[in-house]
Amino acid sequence: MNKKVIGISASIYNETEKEFLGSQYAYLPQDYINAIHSFNSIAIILPVTEDRDIIKEYVSKIDALILSGGYDVSPNLYKQNPKEKLGETMPLRDYFEINLIVEAVNQRKPIFGICRGMQLINIAFGGSLFQDLSYRKEENIQHVQKSNAINTSHFVYLSGELSTFFNKEKILVNSFHHQGIDKLANGFKVLAHSDDNLIEAIFSNEKDTWILGVQWHPEMSFTSDENSKKIFKYFIDNIF
Ligand code: MN
Repeated sequence: MNKKVIGISASIYNETEKEFLGSQYAYLPQDYINAIHSFNSIAIILPVTEDRDIIKEYVSKIDALILSGGYDVSPNLYKQNPKEKLGETMPLRDYFEINLIVEAVNQRKPIFGICRGMQLINIAFGGSLFQDLSYRKEENIQHVQKSNAINTSHFVYLSGELSTFFNKEKILVNSFHHQGIDKLANGFKVLAHSDDNLIEAIFSNEKDTWILGVQWHPEMSFTSDENSKKIFKYFIDNIF
């Protein structure tokens, strides 16, 4: 059987050592790659570009797309000015990944967004974010955990396809995000939420699309947590 080919969006790492200042590196944590390899699938790193033809070609060469974690998304994309607690943004990467989403939808390739990836999906389809969770009215649980990322830290309550797939009401996940979904994009439903009623997973499978987003980092807890393996399996099993 042919192996499934999964493209993962990369980031850009800016060198901080003074001898190499100005150097930039295409950057992707190895965890994503290890997770995909463990399913006997091929991982392709997709480097940031603003060339729409290259983006289109990238998508044509993969069976499915993973949008990886990272920087805050520019609030200009959901028509807001930056607030005090907004973190660092990278508009070039925003542009690259939004066009990856557009192409993946056009070419009917499944999409799995992780952390920033889920937030970007929500924005690409017209939703908005809390620029920092302290701007919510609700009191938050700890969404930036202080223990290592291999450890899970808070519960999420599953619904719809995820509660069916896991055959569970709730699972534990890790948490490393200071932003979250405010207005949910049209066409998406919530498949997981936390005790403070923050959206932790979104899903859309209308009109030949299959788009899943999770706010946690299953790739980081992949080897230590069965549920983290399982959410990757759910994605891989749905690549047609
Ligand atoms: Mn969380």
